[in-house]
Amino acid sequence: MIHAPLKKLVIASNNQGKLREINSILAPLEIEVLPQSVFKIPEVDEPYHTFVENALTKARHASKHAGLPALADDSGICVNALNGDPGVQSARFAGEPKSDQRNNQKLIDILKHQVDRSAYYYCIIVLLRHADDPQPIIVDGAWHGEIILEPKGEGGFGYDPYFYLPELGKTAAQLPVEQKNQISHRGKALAKLAEDIQTHKSIPEEITRR
Ligand code: IMP
Repeated sequence: MIHAPLKKLVIASNNQGKLREINSILAPLEIEVLPQSVFKIPEVDEPYHTFVENALTKARHASKHAGLPALADDSGICVNALNGDPGVQSARFAGEPKSDQRNNQKLIDILKHQVDRSAYYYCIIVLLRHADDPQPIIVDGAWHGEIILEPKGEGGFGYDPYFYLPELGKTAAQLPVEQKNQISHRGKALAKLAEDIQTHKSIPEEITRR
C-alpha cells in the first residue's frame, strides 16, 4: 500500500474560539490547516441527536466543497441535572440566531435553584481523508466541572465563564489558551487525533486520490 503524508486539511468550522484552539494544537504536526471560510463553504445543518453524526456531516460537507481531507468538531456542554442537555443543542440552546450570551442566561436561569450543577463538556473530532471516506478517524474527549451562577474570566468562548473547575479554583474563561488546550474536552480529543496521525503518519494514497 502506498502512503501519502497528510499535508493539508480543511476545518469544518467558522467558530473563532474553536479554530484558535484547534490551530494551536495541530501546529506542531506541520499540517497546513485551512478554515472552511477560505473556501466560502456555507454552514451545514446539524439535525442529528448524536455528536458523532453531526461531526461526520460537517466534515463530509467541508471535504466535498474543498476537495481536501477535513476535520470537524462537534461539541457541547452536558448538564447532569438536565439529563445531558443542552448537549448537541449547546450552540442553539436559546434558539436562533446563535448567541453565547442568551445561551448562558438560559442555562443559569434553569440552574439557579438546582443543587447539583455538575456538568461536562464533550467533544467528538472526525477526520475524513475524502468526502466518501469509509474509515474516518473518530476521537472524543470529556472535561468535568460545574456551572456557577456568576461569570468569571474573559478568555475562551461559549459557556466558559460559567464552567468552573473546583480543582483549579477557576473557570475555563480564566485559563490561558495553552492550559485550556491541555485539559479540555477538545484538547484531549485532539491529542488522541495527533497521536493517531503520528502513529500512522500517513494515509493510504489510493484513498486520498479516489
Ligand atoms: P457546535 O459548533 O455545534 O459543535 O457547537 C458547540 C457549542 O458548544 C458551542 O457553540 C458552545 O456553545 C459549546 N462549546 C463547545 N465547546 C466549548 C468550549 O470549549 N467552551 C465553551 N463552550 C463550548
